[in-house]
Amino acid sequence: SILLLHRPAAAHDKLLGGLLADGFDEGSCHSRYQSAMYRRNNAGKEPSPHLVSRLRRHEELQRRCGPGTAAYSNAVESLRSGKSGGIGSPPQTECRYLVSISYRGLGNRMLAAASAFLYAMLTDRVLLVDPSNEMGELFCEPFPGTTWLLPPGFPLTNFTSFSVDTAESYGNMLKNKVITTDAAAGDVPTPHQQLPAFAYIHLDHDYTFHDKFFFCDDDQSVLRNVPWLVMRTDSYIVPGLFLVTGFQAELDSLFPETDAVFHHLARYLFHPNNHIWGLVTRYYDAYLATARQRVGVQVRVFGARQESPKVLEQITACAHMENLLPDVITTGEPAATTRRRLKPKAVLVTSLTSWYYEKLKGMYWERATATGEAVGVHQPSHEEYQRFGSGSHDAKACAEIYLLSLSDALVTSGWSTFGYVAQGLAGLTPRVMYKPANESSAVPDPPCRRDVSMEPCFLTPPYNNCRMKRSAHSGKVVAHVKNCHDVPWGLKLV
Ligand code: GDP
Repeated sequence: SILLLHRPAAAHDKLLGGLLADGFDEGSCHSRYQSAMYRRNNAGKEPSPHLVSRLRRHEELQRRCGPGTAAYSNAVESLRSGKSGGIGSPPQTECRYLVSISYRGLGNRMLAAASAFLYAMLTDRVLLVDPSNEMGELFCEPFPGTTWLLPPGFPLTNFTSFSVDTAESYGNMLKNKVITTDAAAGDVPTPHQQLPAFAYIHLDHDYTFHDKFFFCDDDQSVLRNVPWLVMRTDSYIVPGLFLVTGFQAELDSLFPETDAVFHHLARYLFHPNNHIWGLVTRYYDAYLATARQRVGVQVRVFGARQESPKVLEQITACAHMENLLPDVITTGEPAATTRRRLKPKAVLVTSLTSWYYEKLKGMYWERATATGEAVGVHQPSHEEYQRFGSGSHDAKACAEIYLLSLSDALVTSGWSTFGYVAQGLAGLTPRVMYKPANESSAVPDPPCRRDVSMEPCFLTPPYNNCRMKRSAHSGKVVAHVKNCHDVPWGLKLV
């Protein structure tokens, strides 16, 4: 194609080093095999051969046990009638399942789905995603020959309203001794404990001391025998999975580069549908393709006042400090000799408001840059406020996450899952801006810092000491898990 003529053939590995399965119908999902053509910022992260073979094996499991198969019908029937296996007795269902609930913003939902997928892969469960909140409308199917969307008719009709109080949550069942782990029962083994047909895994920010035992080995051994799990999280729980010793060997061979876990999971799972890919590629080709360098600036202001001169100052201070954007000359015009006919730099701003974009654009129009470079500033949309349940709003958010991920460098807002997803897809370690303590506090100094890795931060990690069955600080327990820069108590892979 014409596009390919401009891009070196070697750089265009449409299967991303074997990460993606071949043989999907290309017309039904252009983004799947075209993304590689648009990404020039190759992070040099190759999927391990073990990850590639586990993905193919997992795809086979999804096909063998997924919706429409006899195994799936049987498992749904067992759930409806409340049957399950017990420890020591063979499970009565051939396949085991993980249903992931989708809620909150798009960034949260993408982190949750990627986390659930890795947990499903580690525990040989079929992943089924709750199709509400647009998850079915934004992305193509990731697994060949089957669907990852939970079909209608699921017996747990109210599962999307499961909460910390749900009696069947793993934490509540543990607390009420409906389920016991050997260690919790005071050394009395319970080999014939009758397990429920399903357990609800509550990993929302309000999760309790008992819910957090999900991240412990004894508890994982018990959960292994529960045929259906329904999981609620809006966070990137993967660093927590690295705390489970039983998962560590497998995680090490799946991801020899621990700072690229989400990078691979996201590039494997999330392929925007043709409508959204159209939004991405039309915008990219019109405004970004010819730039000398693309700098993505993701502005997320938490709080009522979106337009903050301090945040603007923070953005420009960060971009100058990191040599991402040139300074402007405050008075007069540059000497004729500094004028250079270079291709412009492109700044892609994403934000709910257009205010930052207008200010930056004005700054680079009204004043010359000290280096003589031209700077073009672009923003695809300004939705003003976060909306829920609106397809076109989510489609724009999704397109902007992808456009950000095509940048050559990223400045992101701390605490934002929107930025986390963009940096992971891009394979870029961003300059992360700290969240000011409140609206009246000074611009943070330094305004930003190169993050410790491209991984998302697990904002609400567990601090349980599994063996002692009491709360303890789990930081520094394992190599490759560190505290986040933007959220000091958060955990992330490095
Ligand atoms: P977080 O709240 O920053 O962690 O990110 P989420 O993606 O989970 O939720 C924020 C939601 O607000 C997004 O999903 C969008 O719906 C909306 N939003 C926030 N920032 C932007 C933006 O820059 N562009 C667009 N189009 N939407 C945004």
